[in-house]
Amino acid sequence: MSRPRATAAVPAAALLAVALVAAALLLSACAPSVDPIERLGRKAADRVHPQGPAGVPAYRRWGLAAPLSPAPRPPLHPLSFHTALPPVVDHIPTSDRVVFLTYDDGAEKDPRFVDMVRELRLPVSMFLTDSVVGPGYGHFARLRSVGASVQNHTLDHPAMPGLPYAGQRAEICGQQEKLKSRFGIRPRLFRPPYGTYDTTTLRAAADCGVTAVVLWRAATTPDGITYRGGDKRLRPGDIVLVGPDEALGPTLRDRTARLLRRVQASGLTVGRLEDYL
Ligand SMILES: [Zn+2]
Repeated sequence: MSRPRATAAVPAAALLAVALVAAALLLSACAPSVDPIERLGRKAADRVHPQGPAGVPAYRRWGLAAPLSPAPRPPLHPLSFHTALPPVVDHIPTSDRVVFLTYDDGAEKDPRFVDMVRELRLPVSMFLTDSVVGPGYGHFARLRSVGASVQNHTLDHPAMPGLPYAGQRAEICGQQEKLKSRFGIRPRLFRPPYGTYDTTTLRAAADCGVTAVVLWRAATTPDGITYRGGDKRLRPGDIVLVGPDEALGPTLRDRTARLLRRVQASGLTVGRLEDYL
C-alpha cells in the first residue's frame, strides 16, 4: 500500500530538491549585488548592538538590560583653563549626559575586560603606574587598540604631597617617558596616587607636559558608589573611578557592569574624557 505512494513521492521530492538548489543558486547569484547594502546595514546595526558569535547582543552578554546610549557629539574644543598650573578636575562642566570611566594602577589584566571594552565600545581611561603594570604593558596596548586611552599615574605610586620637586618630577616625567617608549604617546592627563597632591605636584606635572590633573567625584566600592561631595548621585560630567582593585572582590568586568547599570538608570552614558579635557 505504501509502496506506490513512496515511488510516486520520489520524483516529487527530487523535483523539490532541484527547485531548492536552483533557488539557492539564484539567491547566491544575486548575493553580490545586494550583499554590500545588507552588510552596511548590519554594520550600522552592530554599532548599536554588536552581535557576538552566539547572536546575543553584546550589552546582554555583559550584563546590561539595554544597549548603552551613544555618547553625544563631543565638544569641538576641549575645555581651556587659563591658569598657570594644570587645573585639577573631578568633574567636567558639561550638560552632555555623560560620565567618564577611569581605572587606576593597572594591576588587573583580564583579557575578557578587553573584550568588554571592544564590544561595548567603552571609551575608558587607564591611569597606569609603571611598578604595578610591570611586564604587563601588552595588555594595555590591546586595550588602546580597542579604544581605551592610557594616562599617567606615576612610576612607583608614592603619596606626592611633601615630596621634593625633583622626586615628584622624576615620578611624573619618568612615567611619561615609559609610556612614550611603550605606546609612542606622551599623556596629557595625570592622576596623583591616592588623589593627593600639593602645589609642587602641579608644577612638576606642568613641567612634564601634563595639561590637567584628574581626580574623581565618584568611586565604585564593594557596596556601591561613594561621592566626594555634592549630590549623592551620578551627574552629567562626573569622572568616576572604577575601583578599588581587590583580589577577592568582584572582577573589573563585574564592577564595570554594575556601574554601567547605574549609569543607565541615571539616564546617562559613557563619554571619552580626552574629548573634554
Ligand atoms: Zn593608584
